[in-house]
Amino acid sequence: MIYDLKDFGSFVQFILKHNDLLDTPVYGQIWIIGPLFQEYSGLKFTNEEFVWFLIQFNMVSGGSLKFDNVLIPSTNLQSLPKLVWINLPGILILQSRLQGKVLDISTHRETTNSPTSVLDFIQQPDKTIKSYDFLSPDTTIVNSFKFDKDILFQLLNRPTSRTQLNKDKAKRHIPEIPFYHVCNEQAHSQLLASMGLNKKEYSHFGSKHNIPEDIIIQRILKCKSIISNEVFRCFQEKIHFLPIINNHTDLNLGDCSYLDTCHKMKTCRYLHYYTLNPMQKNQKDTIDSKSNNSEYTLGDCFSQACREVQPPQWINCDVRYLPFPILGKFAAIISDPAWDIHMSLPYGTCKDDELLSLPMHELQDEGIIMLWVTGRSIEVGRRALLKWGYKIYDEMIWIKLNQLRRTIVTGRTGHWLNHSKEHLLVGLKGDPIWINKKIDTDVVVSPTRETSRKPDEFYDIVERLVGKHSRKLEIFGRDHNTRPGWLTIGNQLQGVSLTEPELKHKYELYKQTSTTNS
Ligand code: SAH
Repeated sequence: MIYDLKDFGSFVQFILKHNDLLDTPVYGQIWIIGPLFQEYSGLKFTNEEFVWFLIQFNMVSGGSLKFDNVLIPSTNLQSLPKLVWINLPGILILQSRLQGKVLDISTHRETTNSPTSVLDFIQQPDKTIKSYDFLSPDTTIVNSFKFDKDILFQLLNRPTSRTQLNKDKAKRHIPEIPFYHVCNEQAHSQLLASMGLNKKEYSHFGSKHNIPEDIIIQRILKCKSIISNEVFRCFQEKIHFLPIINNHTDLNLGDCSYLDTCHKMKTCRYLHYYTLNPMQKNQKDTIDSKSNNSEYTLGDCFSQACREVQPPQWINCDVRYLPFPILGKFAAIISDPAWDIHMSLPYGTCKDDELLSLPMHELQDEGIIMLWVTGRSIEVGRRALLKWGYKIYDEMIWIKLNQLRRTIVTGRTGHWLNHSKEHLLVGLKGDPIWINKKIDTDVVVSPTRETSRKPDEFYDIVERLVGKHSRKLEIFGRDHNTRPGWLTIGNQLQGVSLTEPELKHKYELYKQTSTTNS
């Protein structure tokens, strides 16, 4: 027999009223529940019919009754499964449907508003668990409910197939940079330095920092017979920082706080180091070019397999005067503005309002922007992003490491505290569904290099977010920032190099008109 929705009304009342069906003496046994329900409702069922009724009830109540086995209609009472769990919210939803009302499931109150989502419901676990008490004080129900809630959370938090595929893709396409440990045995570094570095015959190199690594390694190898096995193995496997002893070095002063970024390296009396990388650079190339998992993701897998990435492009210009529309649109932008931070910098800076009034809205219809900011400029940066039409989605930081791979404690910036990190605001424009999310984290730990130079890791992150083939722009970039797939603009770049025909054409046109006009 096929039941109608309204036929289940009395069973809903029955379950809500009898809060001890799973408990003694019923223990969820169907052959007891059946007769109890018949007595309650005045309906008549055979055992077999009652099982059919339960099967259909579960269909309309979203599987609110759980049994310890599959429900199969049978006349053999002993073989019927036992009811082990009642999903109260499911029963209440059905009750509301029967009454033609909308239920606010977190309070069990009927409302005329739109229904509260299951998500809202499970986000208020305390309230809902308490509300179970009126059904059954039995802890098995509460526990089983908790269990169910956990499963729900797990489901909600489970990465989507797309995320998993993107992670898999990222794993295959990102070269694994070997991680070398640093040797902390001073005696090792001192010994290696005396054998390979602190020699008179290197005077023609000027600074000892300039001695090529392989020359030092060759010298150490010549002394192999007098080096202990332990030191030799360590020299092969770990990074060593060899103390550089110059005539002017005063060992009592200790380490130079700027180390390899010291501006007065040639005369500095503090101790400096030469970085000797491990001899066994087992650069295993983990990217298997044949293992492209092309067919699955949105992104750029397919193009990655069969199309070359655009070679690096750059334009030397003053960004304040370059007409942005000639550049076209970009999926991602990195901008490291020369903020006027009242510090002496080896390049010119821009005023806040000059930066804010850049026509950034021309560069993206939808996509991401990463804006480097420091101290005071964090606030200006936020304002700028909002003004340019972005929502600020994230903030990343770069934790700066010094030459010895330790956190910088005496940075050159910071008025009150020494700055050991830099901030990057991440803005989003439009709703770019093609962005590969949840691959990277918002913290990058990486050594410092030249003044203002940012770690390459950020380019890799952007490329994973928007794909290697999409158009990407760096504003205020320098020669060392140029990269395949990127257009770099800035006033310290060497000349112009463009390969995209449209961009080239528009740029030439602009140049012609600007020279004719001037
Ligand atoms: N992110 C870069 C450093 C950028 S420093 C890196 O990783 O190396 C800021 C750069 O912006 C400097 O090269 C500076 O010369 C340049 N710059 C300053 N004002 C500019 C302007 N009006 N137009 C173009 N470039 C400018």
